[in-house]
Amino acid sequence: MKIGIDLGGTTVGIGVVDENYKIVAETEMRTADCKTPDELASIVLEGTRKLIESNHIDQKDITFIGMGCPGEIDTEKGIAVAADNLPIEKSPFAKLLTETFGAPARLDNDANCAAWGEHMAGVSKGYKNIVTVTLGTGIGGGIIVDGKLLHGKENHAGEIGHMVIDIHGKRCGCGRIGCWETMASTRALIKEVEHQARYAPNSRLGKLIAANGGHANGKTLFIAMSEEDNMARSIFNDWIRALEVGMWNVINIFRPDMIVISGGISNEGETLLAPLRNAVGKCSTLIRAGRLGGNAGLIGAAALDEMVI
Ligand SMILES: [Zn+2]
Repeated sequence: MKIGIDLGGTTVGIGVVDENYKIVAETEMRTADCKTPDELASIVLEGTRKLIESNHIDQKDITFIGMGCPGEIDTEKGIAVAADNLPIEKSPFAKLLTETFGAPARLDNDANCAAWGEHMAGVSKGYKNIVTVTLGTGIGGGIIVDGKLLHGKENHAGEIGHMVIDIHGKRCGCGRIGCWETMASTRALIKEVEHQARYAPNSRLGKLIAANGGHANGKTLFIAMSEEDNMARSIFNDWIRALEVGMWNVINIFRPDMIVISGGISNEGETLLAPLRNAVGKCSTLIRAGRLGGNAGLIGAAALDEMVI
């Protein structure tokens, strides 16, 4: 049995997986109120201890503990160096986990863990060259080349959301202009939906947003499209175009066997995937949605011991 830990800004998910990477027990603890690295570490350690105890697992049966963390990671030393929304300051999680539970432990970036999870137990299992594109607040990337995760210098590889696709575009949170994620993330789509609906309050989209207190979410546009709202279709087409430009860049650089689309919006399935597949139609790269959903990071963390660095 192995343990996977998926640390996030709001919660930490902790799970026990069997030899087929099936989750056999899991728990979730809140991390949003953590103020200090010590507090955060004790939540992770206590949560893991309780999970083991409440499921009557013998500590000796745990062969490995893997953990995915946001932000900067020193994978060699097993240290979470820094993160934007969590009190992580060089937290030596691998050492803490090994000392507490007596099993070897490894750390990696959360986006890398999610890509690794899909590769080990999900949609991209059996393929060697994969790029995972996670659509959300930004666009995250996990790149697997010849079966190995690409870490790059100081583990900074895979920031595909910050490739510029429009030099006259909008300013990105990173400071540059026209990054892919300013145009093609789920957040960018929601912003555009809200912006355009303001000028068309009587459209189906406008009414859906008004009924939701003036806000759209990841599903609003798809509901309006299913009701044949023309404005919704036009916003979607523009967004797909921006997504396609970046996808082609990714394909031209890596020529992967598969691009895995993950993030909540990937639940839209073929409505999202078919136009993307069409857009990259001339190349043989497969476009698939992730299969593990929100568990990809946890499962990938538990499988970090199978990763060759
Ligand atoms: Zn950027």
